[in-house]
Amino acid sequence: MLPAIAALCGLLFGSFLNVVIGRLPAGGSIASPPSHCPACGRRLRAWENIPVISWLALRGRCATCKSPISARYILVELATGALFALAAAEFGASAVTVGACALSAFAIVTLFVDIDHLLILDAVTVPAAVIALVVSLVTGRIVDSLEGAAVGAVLFGVIYISTRGAGLGFGDVKLAACLGLYLGLAGSIAAFAAAFIIGAVLALPVLATRRRRAKDVLPLGPFLVLGGLIVTFAPALVFGPYQAYQWFLYRHLGGG
Ligand SMILES: [Zn+2]
Repeated sequence: MLPAIAALCGLLFGSFLNVVIGRLPAGGSIASPPSHCPACGRRLRAWENIPVISWLALRGRCATCKSPISARYILVELATGALFALAAAEFGASAVTVGACALSAFAIVTLFVDIDHLLILDAVTVPAAVIALVVSLVTGRIVDSLEGAAVGAVLFGVIYISTRGAGLGFGDVKLAACLGLYLGLAGSIAAFAAAFIIGAVLALPVLATRRRRAKDVLPLGPFLVLGGLIVTFAPALVFGPYQAYQWFLYRHLGGG
């Protein structure tokens, strides 16, 4: 029952994340103006704002001007719903679930904003870090979280300084530290390793086929957040929710 409720919350929250992804980088208000068609500007009716269902009912087109509505909208909603449900199934009714849901939401926003604008916004990273700190305090794993943040800050800070900001941006350093707060020491190291592996696998074909100029920057944020999501959720998918929860307790609370 809990995962189903979480999935529904995730779908609705995913709708909100679409607004954040679309408006935050431009510095626009998230609250106003109300949802409208990006092509013709017509304000959406209530039934056109239902996650996933509206997009399917309209067959991915605006009801008035018939311009296509990006499939990304339902992708974001479905991904948020799925991750919230997974968090609830994995961690039950606990503060850990809140942390995993927060991480999922921030990961989705970071992923798409970084792909679109090569930007990692403090307006996303700072609230994400605050929630991670609160969850760590509540679950009694603040030391592990701070160790994770330190590893992220040092590892990516060294790359940032040694490449003089050419290899990655300072936003990536802050994002790595923020992920460290969520994942703890062992989790961060695993997530950063996963990020580098995913980055290498996905970037090599691009680098091989397209000659990128030295100034071109490949966004690192998406790989980092994917690494973080894998570390958070893969144990449940591989071992099942109960074992993952046991593993989580063992890792963070020293057995139990
Ligand atoms: Zn329209």
